[in-house]
Amino acid sequence: MTLTETAFQKCISPSCGAVFEVDDVLVTCRQCGDLLDVVYDWNRSQPPDSLRQFERDWRNRTDPLCFSGVWRFHSLLPFALREQVVTIGEGQTLLQPADSVGNYVGLNADRLFLQYEGLNPSGSFKDNGMSAAFTHARMIGARRAACASTGNTSASLAMYCAVTRRMQAIIFVGSGKISYGKLAQALDYGALTVQISGDFDDAMARVQEVSKKLGIYLVNSVNPFRLEGQKTIMFRVLEALRWEIPDWIIVPGGNLGNSSAFGKAFAELHALGLIDRIPRLAVINAAGANTLHELYEVRGVRWGAGKETDEAIDSYYQQLDDEQRKASTIASAIEINRPVNLRKCLRALDVCNGVVRQVTDQAILDAKAQVGAGGIGCEPASAASVAGARQLREEGLISQNDRVVCILTGHLLKDPNATIAYHTTDQQEFNRVLGNRGVQSAAFANRAVAVANDPDAIIKAIQLYS
Ligand SMILES: *Cc1c(COP(=O)(O)O)cnc(C)c1O
Ligand SMILES: [Zn+2]
Repeated sequence: MTLTETAFQKCISPSCGAVFEVDDVLVTCRQCGDLLDVVYDWNRSQPPDSLRQFERDWRNRTDPLCFSGVWRFHSLLPFALREQVVTIGEGQTLLQPADSVGNYVGLNADRLFLQYEGLNPSGSFKDNGMSAAFTHARMIGARRAACASTGNTSASLAMYCAVTRRMQAIIFVGSGKISYGKLAQALDYGALTVQISGDFDDAMARVQEVSKKLGIYLVNSVNPFRLEGQKTIMFRVLEALRWEIPDWIIVPGGNLGNSSAFGKAFAELHALGLIDRIPRLAVINAAGANTLHELYEVRGVRWGAGKETDEAIDSYYQQLDDEQRKASTIASAIEINRPVNLRKCLRALDVCNGVVRQVTDQAILDAKAQVGAGGIGCEPASAASVAGARQLREEGLISQNDRVVCILTGHLLKDPNATIAYHTTDQQEFNRVLGNRGVQSAAFANRAVAVANDPDAIIKAIQLYS
């Protein structure tokens, strides 16, 4: 059987629903311009009878597809033939019980889990999706691939290009907006790095224009194949919970690819009869980049309201332009005002009875310090999930006995500046990096002890502080 009989691309607009071949290179619907889904004819593609089947594959892990945390679930994202898959062992990530962080959030013991996606080869969850997009790019014979990025997508793309030697990476970044950890990766892995004078939203607009003109394969999260890879984060969470469904999945919201992918994953598992319940989804915005929160919670915008939804979104974007409002948060990975997957995320919130919250940079950094003190370091954007969990717990929407999974999207070392500034004893440095963000205190700072270059003084200090 050929692939074109089992997998398709389909416009998400209920009033359009146009269908395209899986090996068509599109970023949006050719008929109406809406986003695309990868959809499957499950009657032909042989989905699993039970999720437990996946446990068997681990025994065959000398096969790279069984080793990969993405491609072990190939039968739930069967858009490529096994021999077409590009994998470098992504998705070996960890669902970690985290009672100290759970205590901070306000949950009982054994109730909070951190899904640590910082363990991916490039240090963020983006590798899950990049492996899938790269596989599609290979299927259609692309030679160059591009993305706009707040940093982690470009690090991931640069890594896949360098390791597999299959494509040239071209990355678009806003000026001054990318953290050094991430920029260092892109440069070291040899990506052609184009620094635009503008912010992420500008870089996003330019990369779409330019890629179209030059025929470059686009791997931004508007690319529907990336989201197929990101579905597997949820498969791994369920697997680690022995296929039990948690009460809450909590994820930071930037371009809203992850939240969209999670909603799709649960909708598909449910439709296939592989799960009998869908967890609730909480998407957490930074207060300085809160488009989803504003639209969903304040203006009541919902999926499926047709023209009304479009008009509400358009008028909000117009307002952002009129007020010249730019996204601003220490959590650079979610510093985005025009999330490209907005409409898919609204659909995911509908599927998962979801909620959206916004958290301040102060709350993000405090939560991040708690995560770090628990032994798993994350970058600021990741900690939005924990800060959001705490807020929802305070509101009483999450109860103390709920089973909660927070996604930690990226590794601590991606953005050491924010961490060092939080823990510093140097008030000037604190103000320079964090003060202009409205961050005033560092309740959980672990400050270095300054001491003279003298053994007695050092011994005294250790005795005093240990
Ligand atoms: C990309 C990214 C996000 C945002 O994820 P979306 O899928 O764009 O909402 C959050 N945290 C980190 C570390 C990221 O790299
Ligand atoms: Zn369409």
